[in-house]
Amino acid sequence: MEEGIIMKLFGTQTINDASTLVIGGVDVKTLQKQFGTPLYVMDETHIRNQCRWFTQHFVSERVRSEVIYASKAFLTIAMCRLIEAEGLSLDVVSGGELYTAFKAGFPMERVYFHGNNKSAEELSMALKHNVGTIILDNENELDMLLKQIKPPQTINVLLRLNPGIEAHTHEYIATTKNDSKFGLSVFAEKTLDVIRRIDASDGLCFRGFHSHIGSQIFEEASFIEHARAIMKYVAEVKDATGIEVEAINLGGGFGVRYTEEDRPIDNAEFLNHVLDTVFEEATRAGVTVPRVMIEPGRAIVANAGTTLYEVGSTKTTFSGRNYVFVDGSMADHIRTSLYGAEYHGVLANRMDEKPLDSYTVTGKACESGDIIIRHLTLPTPEKGDLLAVFSTGAYHYSMASNYNRLQRPAVVFVKEGKATCVVRRESYDDLIRNDVDVRL
Ligand SMILES: *Cc1c(COP(=O)(O)O)cnc(C)c1O
Repeated sequence: MEEGIIMKLFGTQTINDASTLVIGGVDVKTLQKQFGTPLYVMDETHIRNQCRWFTQHFVSERVRSEVIYASKAFLTIAMCRLIEAEGLSLDVVSGGELYTAFKAGFPMERVYFHGNNKSAEELSMALKHNVGTIILDNENELDMLLKQIKPPQTINVLLRLNPGIEAHTHEYIATTKNDSKFGLSVFAEKTLDVIRRIDASDGLCFRGFHSHIGSQIFEEASFIEHARAIMKYVAEVKDATGIEVEAINLGGGFGVRYTEEDRPIDNAEFLNHVLDTVFEEATRAGVTVPRVMIEPGRAIVANAGTTLYEVGSTKTTFSGRNYVFVDGSMADHIRTSLYGAEYHGVLANRMDEKPLDSYTVTGKACESGDIIIRHLTLPTPEKGDLLAVFSTGAYHYSMASNYNRLQRPAVVFVKEGKATCVVRRESYDDLIRNDVDVRL
């Protein structure tokens, strides 16, 4: 039964003759020996396949399209290089993400700079590095950008819209007044003035709109409705201002499988339907067919990642709850305590054994909320066992902290039997690197 679940979750994971989990051709015991635990393991082939799935399916003869990787899901120098090689563009939301892309030598014209509160320093950095496109969130950012941009430099600008629809995990909800902090409302008259100002300014090339309705979305209809809503606004803007929109960025949010219950969209035609919808709506409204962008983050990396932990001890509380203690914590796995996210895991060195009891997987952090998996059935865990948690490629390393002065784990890419370290494990010295050695 365990094997069935694994095969469903991960096309490229296998089990070897010693009943040990194998990722990208490398067995987890070897990975543990070479890199220690906790360890983030990323299946490089899976990441590349996901990139290709998007670039191959998000195409249409009638609509130009572009796939942008939302780097907040997982970003390192090696990842930037992989994204560049796979031909995707890159979305960054901070000076730090931009700096990483710059240091990796990522082509700056393919960078999209997001964020709802960019600092003057970050905008200046974006201009200095000739970032291809800035997504403006609000009028204050527009004022700051206009102050900084000097002819002959020009920069492409998208305006972030709040379309008044929001996708909640299993359905999209149309609200007339979405109170998200992002973007300017399609219902506000003032938004048209901002569009006119961007369009009329010298250094800024108004290209169009950006909008993102949420994350971990499983319904095709949410994405189609979103595309319709944006195209409706594109037509309204043309009517009201005469300004033609050249590009729309529909954001990310494509859901992935964390547990058996999750049902991601597996219709290969689906991305094409999004493009068809844009084409049809543009034709009907008599506006130029815009170039269309999407920004998957999680869908590119989540299922490529597995976290490996070593089991310390187990404990059964007086009330009868079974705990298994591992050598990581909420510091390397925050989504369970942050959102109540669910995960699947296995004893990776005992893949042939039947799960017997339910355990709560917890770590070393001094919080009762330090939960990695709330309910997981396992064979009776023993000290020294390896516990693997699946689907940890997105929002794990990128959200990791040093809480309790725990060192952030290393990140290893595996491919065809070879493991390459892309982020070193933090040392104790890394932990005190920024502490000033001062006596007060
Ligand atoms: C978070 C985010 C994404 C990526 O979301 P996923 O759920 O990881 O696909 C894309 N665009 C924007 C603007 C975002 O904030």
